[in-house]
Amino acid sequence: MRITPSSNRLSQALREQRLIAPGFGRYFTDHMVVIPFQGGHWQQGELKAYGPLSLDPATSALHYGQAVFEGFKAFVQEGGGVKTFRPHANAERFNRSAARLAMPPLPVDRFIEAADELIRIDRSWIPQNKGESLYLRPLMFATDTCLGVRPSQEYLFVLIASPAGAYFSKGVQPVTVWVSEEFVRAAPGGTGEAKCAGNYAASLLAQAQAQEKGCDQVVWLDAVDREFIEEMGGMNLFFVNQKNGKTIVSTPELSGTLLPGITRSSVLELARELGFDAVERKLGLAQWREEIASGEMTEVFACGTAAVITPVGHVKANGFEMQINKGANGVVTMALREALLAIQYGAVADTHGWMHGVF
Ligand SMILES: *Cc1c(COP(=O)(O)O)cnc(C)c1O
Repeated sequence: MRITPSSNRLSQALREQRLIAPGFGRYFTDHMVVIPFQGGHWQQGELKAYGPLSLDPATSALHYGQAVFEGFKAFVQEGGGVKTFRPHANAERFNRSAARLAMPPLPVDRFIEAADELIRIDRSWIPQNKGESLYLRPLMFATDTCLGVRPSQEYLFVLIASPAGAYFSKGVQPVTVWVSEEFVRAAPGGTGEAKCAGNYAASLLAQAQAQEKGCDQVVWLDAVDREFIEEMGGMNLFFVNQKNGKTIVSTPELSGTLLPGITRSSVLELARELGFDAVERKLGLAQWREEIASGEMTEVFACGTAAVITPVGHVKANGFEMQINKGANGVVTMALREALLAIQYGAVADTHGWMHGVF
């Protein structure tokens, strides 16, 4: 990779000001990585100054949405140094998403190298406080300048980085969710398993509707029966049940229409290690209501890279409303959240090989 350091970095004073309350996805570091795919091959990449891309108006991705992305984080470790969480899993999912959209795979080592180099050159942008991180956003889109509907022959891989604040600045707070019975996120045979830009475009109206109903996030039902719970916004859902003295942590099974979250798979593993039963299952809306009403289901939470683990306190839908755990944070939810954060920040040994050392 060619490295061309920026000659126009933000001043230390301005950078430090931005790092006081970085929020999410608002500020970007001084550099980015671009790797073009041309002539059937990935070309030499370049690490260079962050800045606008110049695109022909006929750029294929702008018209037909052939675009995929990823998201993962780098954490300052308690013992010093910086590590990313499961970046190889993101690289592999990136390539599965690309394959679904008839795009070429990027070799995993080039994906990892791009991230490591960007993190190293922009290390002064990584926030240091507990709960903070550097969010990495890889993306790839079709760059043919042609209005013919076919897979592009040329692509651009881009990697940018953004300092991320603690998601819950005032402490973890449960969210309220709206079950959308009008819109669906993904249908069998569609692109639900791929992290593609279009899935998000198609979700925005339902999300706006959830907000009109006084909710924070939308919960998606399956497209066929409009009954089975799939995901919450851009996060995977989990349920905690107490049955015959056992704690059962469950999540909707990967049916082909769910995004296979890396946080989701990590939570399933951690739940077993904490001594809970962890299962994937199909859960219908009627069953969900019943389990909450009977008191068997004691907690609901959502998980994803950006917010880690978010408790769900209320569920609203057409004609009913339910409260979970009196609208408070649940103990199993918070134990899983702490267990995951402890690994990410290096407070405990990484027995899973999830952390990738950058420096
Ligand atoms: C990215 C994403 C998730 C969460 O995946 P993680 O790998 O845990 O960040 C869940 N659902 C959707 C729709 C997503 O796009």
